[in-house]
Amino acid sequence: MTRIRGRLAPSPTGSQHVGNARTYLLAWLSARSQGGEILLRMEDIDVWRNKPDAAAQALDDLRWLGLDWDGETVVQSTQLPAHEAALAELQRQELVYPCTCSRTDIATAASAPHAEHEGPTYPGTCAHRKVADAATLDKPFSWRFRATHTPAYFDVYQGLMELDLKTLGGDFVVWRSAKVPAYQLAVVVDDAAAGITEVIRGDDLVPSTPRQLLIYEALDLTPPRFAHVPLVVGENGQRLAKRHGDTRLSSLRESGVKAEQLLGLLAWSCGWLPKPEPITLAKLLPLFDWESIPKEPFVLKLEMIEKWTGIVVRGNN
Ligand code: GLU
Ligand code: ZN
Repeated sequence: MTRIRGRLAPSPTGSQHVGNARTYLLAWLSARSQGGEILLRMEDIDVWRNKPDAAAQALDDLRWLGLDWDGETVVQSTQLPAHEAALAELQRQELVYPCTCSRTDIATAASAPHAEHEGPTYPGTCAHRKVADAATLDKPFSWRFRATHTPAYFDVYQGLMELDLKTLGGDFVVWRSAKVPAYQLAVVVDDAAAGITEVIRGDDLVPSTPRQLLIYEALDLTPPRFAHVPLVVGENGQRLAKRHGDTRLSSLRESGVKAEQLLGLLAWSCGWLPKPEPITLAKLLPLFDWESIPKEPFVLKLEMIEKWTGIVVRGNN
């Protein structure tokens, strides 16, 4: 049997929030509770959106939580030759075509498309083109993958997933401009190269998974198993944002919240503790269980943190 290998994949495009912590915790507990490894990849290919210090801060956040990782950190932008080789293979198979349509798609494709970034379904305007047509184009173009079918998959947490890419975005961008891979391609190439066997991430990336499975198929690579977990949201049901108060891990840390206190709150949100009492990772390991995690998003109020820690969180006004 192959050894379980998971990964933590922060993007240095901003600060890590409580929601990221919950997902990292699940990825870490899943791997470690099976005696597996967990790697760390810094997903920095969205060069225009990277924030200075965000990568270092993400590592500090993980260390603070006690979520350790194995081996050297992989920096995604250093894997460009492998991304280029994968694109060349997709081109050889005519599975991609040059698309001159949408400047926004080209601009946003390097980041994982969290729910609010999922664009409208691509109408197939450029699908008649062949790879060789790229040489005749006189404006910038992205490379789009022909989404001819939608692979079904079994989600460890959500069960059988049968989506339809025709209505969920259609043909998708795998390469944004001359030298920049899109998230969908980079994540597959990097996960496969690292021998990742399980990918645990937020459920807003569910529509990305069949796209990635198409790329696994095309490149003849073995896909990992997937689990997509509910997000942490604010009281209005939306992804945590500034208006929900300051839920950045760095701010909680600076306010004096202890990692064990946040872990306890998260463990309670996953149904592993009857109330949010401080707990260590070592004590959480035997409690980890997919079954008890509520299917709904976890609604976080800063008052919960304040109530259970007695600490007034900075920036909550
Ligand atoms: N880097 C992505 C993010 O932070 C995660 C993508 C993934 O797990 O596949 O949103
Ligand atoms: Zn187009």
